[in-house]
Amino acid sequence: MDVSHLLDELNDAQRQAVTAEDGHLLVLAGAGSGKTRVLVHRIAWLIQVHHVSPMGVLAVTFTNKAAGEMRGRIGRLLDLRPEGLWIGTFHGICHRLLRMHAAEVGLPDTFQILDSEDQYRLVRRVIRDMELDEGEHPPRQVQGFINQHKDEGRRPEHIEHFDRGFQARQVDIYRRYQEYCERSGLVDFAELLLRTVELLRDHPERRAHYQSRFGHILVDEFQDTNTLQYALVRLLAGNANRLLVVGDDDQSIYGWRGARVENVAHFDRDFRPEIIRLEQNYRSTRTILEAANRVIDHNDDRMGKNLWTEGEQGEPIRLFAAFNAEEEAEFVIARIQEWIAQGGRPSDCAVLYRSNAQSRLFEQVLLREDIPYRVYGGLRFFERAEIKDAMAYLRLLHNPHDDTAFERVINVPARGIGERTVAQIRAHAGSHAQSLGQAATELVAQGGLSARAGNAVRGFLQLIDALIEATEAASLAEAAGAVIRQTELVAWYQSREPADRAEAREENLAELVRAADSFHQPFEDEQAGLSPMASFLSQAALEAGEHQGERWQDCVQLMTLHSAKGLEFPLVFLAGMEEGLFPHQRSIEEPGRLAEERRLCYVGMTRAMQCLYITHAESRQTYGQTNFSRPSRFVAEIPDSLIESIRSGFRVTPATGRTDSHPQGEAGGLSLGCGVRHARFGLGTVVSLEGQGPNARIQVNFEQAGSKWLVLAYANLERVG
Ligand code: ATP
Ligand code: MG
Repeated sequence: MDVSHLLDELNDAQRQAVTAEDGHLLVLAGAGSGKTRVLVHRIAWLIQVHHVSPMGVLAVTFTNKAAGEMRGRIGRLLDLRPEGLWIGTFHGICHRLLRMHAAEVGLPDTFQILDSEDQYRLVRRVIRDMELDEGEHPPRQVQGFINQHKDEGRRPEHIEHFDRGFQARQVDIYRRYQEYCERSGLVDFAELLLRTVELLRDHPERRAHYQSRFGHILVDEFQDTNTLQYALVRLLAGNANRLLVVGDDDQSIYGWRGARVENVAHFDRDFRPEIIRLEQNYRSTRTILEAANRVIDHNDDRMGKNLWTEGEQGEPIRLFAAFNAEEEAEFVIARIQEWIAQGGRPSDCAVLYRSNAQSRLFEQVLLREDIPYRVYGGLRFFERAEIKDAMAYLRLLHNPHDDTAFERVINVPARGIGERTVAQIRAHAGSHAQSLGQAATELVAQGGLSARAGNAVRGFLQLIDALIEATEAASLAEAAGAVIRQTELVAWYQSREPADRAEAREENLAELVRAADSFHQPFEDEQAGLSPMASFLSQAALEAGEHQGERWQDCVQLMTLHSAKGLEFPLVFLAGMEEGLFPHQRSIEEPGRLAEERRLCYVGMTRAMQCLYITHAESRQTYGQTNFSRPSRFVAEIPDSLIESIRSGFRVTPATGRTDSHPQGEAGGLSLGCGVRHARFGLGTVVSLEGQGPNARIQVNFEQAGSKWLVLAYANLERVG
């Protein structure tokens, strides 16, 4: 059998990892050195050369997108689709295990996943039910508290607290929240992992079963595993199984969410693996690689590595200083248009930013220019209000005891059921240990509600019953269609929102029917006896966003730096490189968090294959306020020799996209040389003026703050002297 294609295009170190015979392996290497490639080739090698059954292989990646790509690449290497292979995210894999063993861990078959927005609402609900002060216990913070403990494997009874006051109440909220989840059959993201760890830890026969089944376990992006994920790997690995773990300490970017880069050292201690280092980068030009290496050099406490490339020097990194965020977006999209005009594909281009909200301006310009794009993260398709409303109905059809879904839609569309009635139903449910659906039914039957409220609630219950009956034999898409029609959601949005908004919602709902129609139940779910509806509902919660837009379309990629991990693109823009935005304000004072931000910057830069643009805006509107900021410190960490600044000389104005020249002289009553005072920067002297009207900018030499470009219209300068 010819297996040479499995080893072609691998260097010696990579080949050593792919073909290793005994023991565990740890591949520790920098960005773009072929770690993921090693993982993929090893799976193909095991199946083809060692005749390992695909059923015996478990591979863990970081996103569903990465899992899909990996599956495709293995399929191409083997020339067949390996059935039975388990590739997925930790959450996806745990979900699958829990579906198969729901009863053993005390979950109903119909359990549903609570995404973070649902979780937030539920936490807030519990805080209100307990009549606690939301100021003292902000729901976001409590949500963080709960997840942080779960991520470390702690149930409420495991949390030590040293007072009877605040701490004890936090733990109480956690306990009440958990009781609520149990009653409604709801499982949050951290719970997926915790339950699975408990399943394997507390059921020796299950543990033995999976340990003998998965002879090979492979984990990508290991530096970002948290305590539970590592516990899970250890439980599955037992003493005998073969592990391949790949990672890069410089790309650990989820510390803020409980990831522990120490797991790399723990793995070394616990498994005594052979360590393989890869040093050649195959992804980026020499310029890009050197710039990234120089930035990450500013961090201490690195395992340290030596990354080089045979690639060409490539183009310099282009640095663009926009005078505001709108201009930044115009600039970026104009470069993308050039790329496409020269024969490049839209999907070669990625715009990366620190926080989700930054996508909006880029989206606006892309829409105007009619360039197809897809946003990963952000307000994802399955997180949009109308989609969540329709999904809540589908969840109720699937499980009438799903209280979160019940509460979401009992008065959506509005049917005259007020907060008081809902509180009454909730109280009844609480005192009778029932779901909200049961409580509502009972209250209506007993006449326990006022006449008007009783009628309204009866109407809602009848609607649900009618839908259950109508969709019993229906396909997924038919069920979704029936829900949208019979609930009259669209008419409701139309009655209360501007036409374009309601129209967008209607389009999204139509898209939901299409998504349901094209949904293919994963082979494994089918095997596990899941109904297509159950699969669909879970996938929607797990994969939010990844169904968005038309999958097959060639489009520009917009995403946060965090979601770009592991990916690569010929043309990359790092946008919003400003102090306070990136590094993020919250991280600036804390050295540990600042180092994590720098690793995030390293991740971002190393996504680029051929061209890297770095952009920052001197002013940006946030929460209706104009903020002025300096370029990110990370920009200054790149050697000047690798950078080409694009600044004056031409300027794209937001309204027309044309290029302006800059008459110097007088603007807004200010002229060169005159003294001014700025609320934040203090006293200074005008040294330059550019542009006109709303685009006029002014350069001021401040006595304390140094030289700054400001947008005249927002700067609020006071003339002095
Ligand atoms: P990251 O740290 O960003 O996840 P990685 O180490 O996983 O990166 P890969 O994504 O596996 O790196 O590889 C980076 C690029 O280099 C890919 O395009 C891959 O196909 C290519 N590559 C890896 N090894 C080789 C090789 N030996 N010959 C040619 N190309 C290679
Ligand atoms: Mg990788």
